[in-house]
Amino acid sequence: MVAERIDGKAFAAALRAKVGEHAARYAEAAGRPAGLAVVLVGEDPASQVYVRSKHKATVEAGMASFEHRLPADTEAATLLALVDQLNTDPAVDGILVQLPLPAHLDEQAVIAAISPDKDVDGFHVINAGRLSVGQPGFVPCTPLGCLMLLKDRLGDLSGLEAVVIGRSNIVGKPMAQLLTDANATVTIAHSRTRDLPAVVRRADIVVAAVGRPEMVKGDWIKPGACVIDVGINRVPAAEEGKTRLVGDVDFASAVEVAGSITPVPGGVGPMTIAVLLRNALVAAHRNAGLEAPADL
Ligand code: NAD
Repeated sequence: MVAERIDGKAFAAALRAKVGEHAARYAEAAGRPAGLAVVLVGEDPASQVYVRSKHKATVEAGMASFEHRLPADTEAATLLALVDQLNTDPAVDGILVQLPLPAHLDEQAVIAAISPDKDVDGFHVINAGRLSVGQPGFVPCTPLGCLMLLKDRLGDLSGLEAVVIGRSNIVGKPMAQLLTDANATVTIAHSRTRDLPAVVRRADIVVAAVGRPEMVKGDWIKPGACVIDVGINRVPAAEEGKTRLVGDVDFASAVEVAGSITPVPGGVGPMTIAVLLRNALVAAHRNAGLEAPADL
């Protein structure tokens, strides 16, 4: 059996197009475009690439993009003042502070300063709490994107065994919560889990969010399982001096056993920005007292 490849790139493109249609309707109804502000502190090359892609995708979806670039030595008070200003700016519906921040800045304090109703990354404790008790809020983009891919592939997840590898606040924990809410039976595995291969072998759904290149092997996978690979790891390529991206799953062996699997790149990665736009548009609707479209 060779697994079907889940085309996250195509799914994300369709979601961005749908956001674009709703964004146009929103602009007409609200009399202004939905707006997303992105704050980048410092010159981290990967963050610069992410921020550029977010800006481009926001504009392409017909939303207003506000980019704020601050030098690496920005003081906490300056950054907090900017967040405060964005919190009260009526043209800004969503605020994203690109992580990681330079070491002298306290990430938790900055996230806490973002208005929970503009926290489109879903990292604020209020939004983590809302997710936990089932109130409407904002869910972190990457796990929400994974859930969308899973539902698209498998339909109803009721009763399925899901194993989430990784327990980070950004991916693992919210992923487990979303799967629980979708009526899957969820196990969270992590660095202290005993006999991880045996735990993973139980799963109809495997979500790998570890940050270890090609750790999950094909012989850990239950035949026919759906494998969602969140990992983005850069490793040396065959050609001297070059690198390539791999996931947390050993794709070559897993594709022989799984029923469906996300590739890296082109699987989960493209979903994150598409869901960010979706969250920003939902925020805009809520901020304007409009009902968010049900199909987003
Ligand atoms: P993290 O480092 O915060 O968390 C990793 C988790 O893996 C931890 O909870 C840890 O307990 C677990 N872990 C570590 N070693 C393990 C082992 N040997 N066995 C089992 N579990 C182990 O990472 P994160 O922020 O959750 O990101 C995970 C991966 O997903 C990274 O590769 C990251 O680059 C990627 N990521 C991708 C996207 C995207 O696709 N847009 C977004 C966020 C993260």
